[in-house]
Amino acid sequence: MAKTDIGPPNYRNFMPPVMQKNYGQWKYHEILQPGLLRHVAESGDELYTVRAGSGRLLSTDHLREICEIADKYCGGYLRFTSRHNVEFLLTDRGKVDSLLAELKSKGYPVGGTGHSITSIVHTQGWVHCHTPATDASGPVKAVMDELYEYFVTMKLPSQLRIALACCLNMCGAVHCSDIAILGIHRTVPKPDHSRVPNVCEIPTTVAACPTGAIRPDPKAKSVVINEEKCMYCGNCYTVCPALPLADAENDGISIWVGGKVSNARTAPMFSKLVIPYLPNNPPRWPETVAAVKNIVEVYARNGRKHERMGEWINRVGWERFFQLTRLEFTDKHIDDFTLAPDTYRTTTQFKWG
Ligand code: SF4
Ligand code: SF4
Repeated sequence: MAKTDIGPPNYRNFMPPVMQKNYGQWKYHEILQPGLLRHVAESGDELYTVRAGSGRLLSTDHLREICEIADKYCGGYLRFTSRHNVEFLLTDRGKVDSLLAELKSKGYPVGGTGHSITSIVHTQGWVHCHTPATDASGPVKAVMDELYEYFVTMKLPSQLRIALACCLNMCGAVHCSDIAILGIHRTVPKPDHSRVPNVCEIPTTVAACPTGAIRPDPKAKSVVINEEKCMYCGNCYTVCPALPLADAENDGISIWVGGKVSNARTAPMFSKLVIPYLPNNPPRWPETVAAVKNIVEVYARNGRKHERMGEWINRVGWERFFQLTRLEFTDKHIDDFTLAPDTYRTTTQFKWG
C-alpha cells in the first residue's frame, strides 16, 4: 500500500498495551462508582478507567497538566470521549485511589458515567466560527456549573446527553441528544453589494440556498434575497462571505429535546423543538440555564428507571411534557417546511399521560 500522510494514523497504535492485547476480547464491564469503570477481559486482564469532565477548548497549560497526570498514573495513556470527557486508563488498581485524590485536589470533576449527565459536546461559538448565532463554551460552562451534581452522581433515570451547536449547520450532535441547545438566527442575510461581485460566485451562492430564496441581480452583479422564503440557515453565508447574517439583537438560542443515538430498547430518535427562542445573555446565560435545568429536573422526577428523555416523552405524550415543564406551545412549534406533512402525527389519538 502506498505510504501517505493523508488521513488519520491507525488508532490501534495509540491504545494502551492492555487494550491492544485484549482487543475484541472483553468479557464485561462495570461502574464501580461515578467516574470509575472496570473492564475485565476474557484473559482476566483488567482495565480501570477514570472519567473526568473537560472543557472542549483547552489551553496548552491545562493539556500539559492532564498529560503529567497520565504520565504519573497511567503510563501516559489517556483518551478524550466524543463528548469531551477525559479518561485516564490504568491497569494498576492500586493507583486508582491516588489518581482520584489528585484529580480532586486539582479541581477536576470525576463522573459522567451511567445514569448521569456527561460533559456537553459543543461547537466553536464566538471563539472561532463564522456563522454562530450564539456562543458555545460560554453557555455550556454556565449550564454545566448548574448541573454539576448530575455529573458526579448517577441518580437520573438514565443517561442524559446534552449538546450545543451554535448554528443549525450543527457541528454538535444536537439532532440526537436528550437536550439540545441550538443557536438560531432570526433575520435574513444582508448582502454587501460592494463585495458580492468580488468575493462570491453568483451561481454557487444561488445554488446554496435550500429554499430557493436567492436570485441573481445581474444589474448590480449581486444577489437579491426573498425574505418570505428565507429560513435564516446561513448556508449562503458559508459560500459567500459578503452575505453576513449575524444580528446582535435577534440571534439567540432554541432548546430541543428527546434525541438519542442509542439503539437500546428503542430506535435512535431525533430531538424536537420545545423552546423556539431564548435571548443571548452572556456571560452566564441565565434564561438558557434555567430552561435546561427545569427540563432536567422534571425528567428526573418523572422518568422511569432506564428511560431516556425521548422514551419518557413518548410514554406520557408531548401534551403532558409541555404541561409538566410549564413550557408554552406556540405556532413556532409547527413545522411548515415543504416536507413537513411527513413529520406530522396523523392520528386523532391524544395522550394526557
Ligand atoms: Fe460554526 Fe454552525 Fe458549527 Fe457553530 S454549529 S461551529 S456556527 S458551523
Ligand atoms: Fe437561503 Fe439560508 Fe441564505 Fe436564507 S440564510 S437565503 S434560506 S441559504
